[in-house]
Amino acid sequence: MTTRRLSLTTLAALLVASSLAQSQLIRAQAASPTPLVYTVSFPEPASKTFTVDVAVPTDGRASVDLMMAIWSPGFYGLQNYADRVTAFSATAPDGAALTVTKPTPSRWTVATGGLPTFTFSYTLSAPRLSNLSNGVTESGAVIIGPSTYVTLVDQTDRPADVTLRLPPTWTGSMTSLDSAPDGRPNHYVAPDYDVLADSPILAGADLTTTAFTVGGIQHYWTYLGQAEWDGARVAAAITPLIEEHIRFWGGLPYQKYVFLNIVTAGRGGSGVEHLNSVAITGGGREPADQTARFRNAVFLSHEYFHAMNVKRLRPVELGPFDYEHAPVTTGLWVGEGLTSYFGDLLAARAGLGSPEDYLAVCSRHITDLQTKQPGRLVQTLEQSSAQMFERIPSDQKVDYYVKGPVVGLVLDAHIRRATNGQRSMDDVMRLERERWSGARGYTGAEFNATVSDAAGFDVEPLLHTLIATTEEIDYTEMLDWFGLRFKTGDPAAAWTLEVRPDATSAQRQHFADLLAHTKK
Ligand SMILES: [Zn+2]
Repeated sequence: MTTRRLSLTTLAALLVASSLAQSQLIRAQAASPTPLVYTVSFPEPASKTFTVDVAVPTDGRASVDLMMAIWSPGFYGLQNYADRVTAFSATAPDGAALTVTKPTPSRWTVATGGLPTFTFSYTLSAPRLSNLSNGVTESGAVIIGPSTYVTLVDQTDRPADVTLRLPPTWTGSMTSLDSAPDGRPNHYVAPDYDVLADSPILAGADLTTTAFTVGGIQHYWTYLGQAEWDGARVAAAITPLIEEHIRFWGGLPYQKYVFLNIVTAGRGGSGVEHLNSVAITGGGREPADQTARFRNAVFLSHEYFHAMNVKRLRPVELGPFDYEHAPVTTGLWVGEGLTSYFGDLLAARAGLGSPEDYLAVCSRHITDLQTKQPGRLVQTLEQSSAQMFERIPSDQKVDYYVKGPVVGLVLDAHIRRATNGQRSMDDVMRLERERWSGARGYTGAEFNATVSDAAGFDVEPLLHTLIATTEEIDYTEMLDWFGLRFKTGDPAAAWTLEVRPDATSAQRQHFADLLAHTKK
């Protein structure tokens, strides 16, 4: 366990947390309808299935429509989770069967006969442990909300109550959901479907959690499965990273945060961000060298930056979530692209990598864009986001994970140069947060106007070129401001950044300022 406190930022963190708690309380008091009560059971883990019984209040309606999500916030692809419901039925409180029909692939209609409540029961296929959908083995389970919880079509603001019935050999479960007031293990509550769906749960025989405090807030590093990298060592390694993010945003937006790690053999790491947690699939091994260490740091930093950018500051089209229709937004260059830009930057600022490590990561983004993304000349960054659910040939599209962070760097240099280092993309994200975080989110036009407001001059011409055209990116200004150049060599193979040997002291200072601890 590692405990470090930040006296200057604790107050800000508490202020953010307490106002959040208050708003949740007000919401709960105003609404408080009867919750949906879910019981999740694992009668035959070897079959890679599990069952869910949900007690559904009807409010006296003769017919009730239920649905399952077709996509997950944070994982931008059509999933049609109802395909994995292998059996379903509905019963009255006295055990009598009720008629269930399936009017669409992801909906069920239950004829209630006017009963005040009924139970909808279903079996879910859960073939593989991963952070993308449900998995069950004889020793553990991953429960991903949108693929697990059938809910009322028209009442997703209803609270939920979840009890896990675990096999006797399993030791427990971990999630960012609040424990139920009765304090029973494996019993959780959520104020609404959004929070329920956005809070994965790990459970099993081999579950280990390390708790650590940063900024006065509890964080947890949890493994499902055997991991070589000791949780206490991970906590010590990532505490400076979280502290850097606190400096960036001025506080923490949650009261609890969980890193949920699913240990899998032989597969590379990936993460999916959630409201108060991240679900990571990875090998559970400590990075072998500094290059791997920094790559892991920027990966975690990206996921963690999402706790604000996407989860609490998001494009207007992404929320309130419509789980039955895929969203269309131009904003993923911000949500994913700028998350990568700041993920890299804050990992370097936290001291987890050297300036050379940071340049290596930037070089990789630019090389990928200039040598592996011919679609950059076909599709704009905004189109790339808006067409995220479409199947487009790889040479006809540009990846917002690749071009996004490059745009972040070029924009940052532009703003720093025009303001002689007085303003930066830090100021942009902070003003965006101030103006647009919350339930509604920002439109593309609002986000763009705020970039110029934060910079103090009209950034629109360059911003438009970068996100709304397929013009090649001009790196001249960025290289000049930071005193960098591309190493000579084949531009079809690599675009490798290095500090110019003849960089002036002013240029060296600009680069040092970029990587210095975030200023308040
Ligand atoms: Zn992401």
